[in-house]
Amino acid sequence: MLPYKHEPFTDFSNKENIKAFNEALEFVNSQLGKEYPLTIGGEKVTTDEKIVSTNPANKEEVIGIVSKANKDLAEKAMQAAVTSFETWKKFNPETRAHIILRAATMLRHRKHEFSAYLVKEAGKPWKEADADTAEAIDFLEYYSRQMLKLKDGIPVQSREGELNQFNYIPLGVGVIISPFNFPLAIMAGTTVAAIVSGNTVLLKPANTTPVVAAKFVELLEEAGLPAGVVNFIPGSGAEIGDYLVDHPKTRFISFTGSRDVGCRIYERAAKVNPGQIWLKRVIAEMGGKDTVLVDKDADLDLAAASIVYSAFGFSGQKCSAGSRAVIHQDVYDEVLEKAVSLTKTLSLGNPEDVNTYMGPVIDKAAFNKIMSYIEIGKEEGKLMTGGEGDAAKGYFIQPTIFADVNEKARIMQEEIFGPVVAVCKAQDFDHMLEIANNTEYGLTGALLSNNREHIERAREEFHVGNLYFNRGCTGAIVGYQPFGGFNMSGTDSKAGGPDYLILHMQAKTTSEMF
Ligand code: NAP
Repeated sequence: MLPYKHEPFTDFSNKENIKAFNEALEFVNSQLGKEYPLTIGGEKVTTDEKIVSTNPANKEEVIGIVSKANKDLAEKAMQAAVTSFETWKKFNPETRAHIILRAATMLRHRKHEFSAYLVKEAGKPWKEADADTAEAIDFLEYYSRQMLKLKDGIPVQSREGELNQFNYIPLGVGVIISPFNFPLAIMAGTTVAAIVSGNTVLLKPANTTPVVAAKFVELLEEAGLPAGVVNFIPGSGAEIGDYLVDHPKTRFISFTGSRDVGCRIYERAAKVNPGQIWLKRVIAEMGGKDTVLVDKDADLDLAAASIVYSAFGFSGQKCSAGSRAVIHQDVYDEVLEKAVSLTKTLSLGNPEDVNTYMGPVIDKAAFNKIMSYIEIGKEEGKLMTGGEGDAAKGYFIQPTIFADVNEKARIMQEEIFGPVVAVCKAQDFDHMLEIANNTEYGLTGALLSNNREHIERAREEFHVGNLYFNRGCTGAIVGYQPFGGFNMSGTDSKAGGPDYLILHMQAKTTSEMF
């Protein structure tokens, strides 16, 4: 098998690629409005109550109609997962990995089709959708190879007449709860890590993006995944989330989403409920308030570009989005001006158009929340560009920069999860680092600097899970920059890294005397 290498991004300056992507969009447009059932123990279940998934760029357009699980169906899915765990855990790890590798190949062949679903259902511009699909392929490829590495355990010492072994075995039934912002990559990555390790799962995707998840579940089935290994139960987190988290048969929860929901899950999972004979494990990857620092001797064009693209890629709806920029006072005015000019060149519009840089935000609730933060921003800083929203057809918000914001202001502290960046002036490098570490989060960060001493200090003192130098703070790649944050950004699971699969397994030591 070839060694792991990340999936390249599609070059959309190439006419052939543009044509192929437009054909994929045409195909997906011909599929709109289809119905998608739940999958429980291999059985397709259609419910009366539905989730109607709509296009955030055109809210009248229905992407798909998805059956919706309630507590009874969640219970049925749990029983199916418990039963299938008994057989799936005994599958040879190589067989499990090969099924996932086959799914990776199939996904690669249908890359543009999946990306086109992301354009339509999540409002991702082409480049962002393509990166999401590439990341999903990477997770499948990477975790399969990780499983092959771990399948025989890790060697330990044995004395004479003794054989000691250290092996990893799966945990049991996992509940996978995924967010809307990487509806393919995170949903697929968290699911596949769990199942390739020998667990069975209940998969609950975000309510706003269930269609792309349904397509992925179909793909796993086509790749030969046995029934009952992935039980697909889209539904409302508020309605079935607690039930799944509290369930005594839930062995682990793999959650990616907001701080508040993550904390709720973490707390509830700690309680041992009647019939439960283990302590649940929780992988919780949560929010961020990520900072781009600009030192006085940085490349100022690179600094402005790093601020802008980290803030506004996918409309700022990334946990890694650079939603704060802290600039040394000596270069503050110049960098700010460059960032504002660059932002004014960004196109906002329909993500189906190859030339669109920024599409909509995900839904009405997100639109309202972000617009209310823009109002707060007007009180807390100076509006330099943007500030307007338009929810007539879809949920569009201009890329927005606030300058001269106090380091403790709300827009410097709270996750907005939209195209809004707060810019703050720092006196010196010490002050920059102090501001960088002054939130409750610790996910990503970037330092633009040509000062070696400052780079080394930041390497030690800038307390984030993913720190980047002389580039933006988004765009971690599986197997290259394992991803996860400190403090209230979560349990630092480092998705796409060498320690990740082990979180889904437990180690068993055996010792035999001869
Ligand atoms: P969210 O509102 O927290 O939702 C995430 C998932 O949790 C959804 O599937 C949601 O279902 C479900 N959920 C809601 N209430 C629940 C409950 N009581 N029990 C169990 N599950 C429940 O987050 P989001 O808006 O989709 O995603 C954005 C957030 O995710 C941001 O904070 C972002 O920073 C974070 N994020 C973090 C990472 C990371 O790696 N650290 C990566 C991506 C995103 P419904 O959709 O049905 O509500």
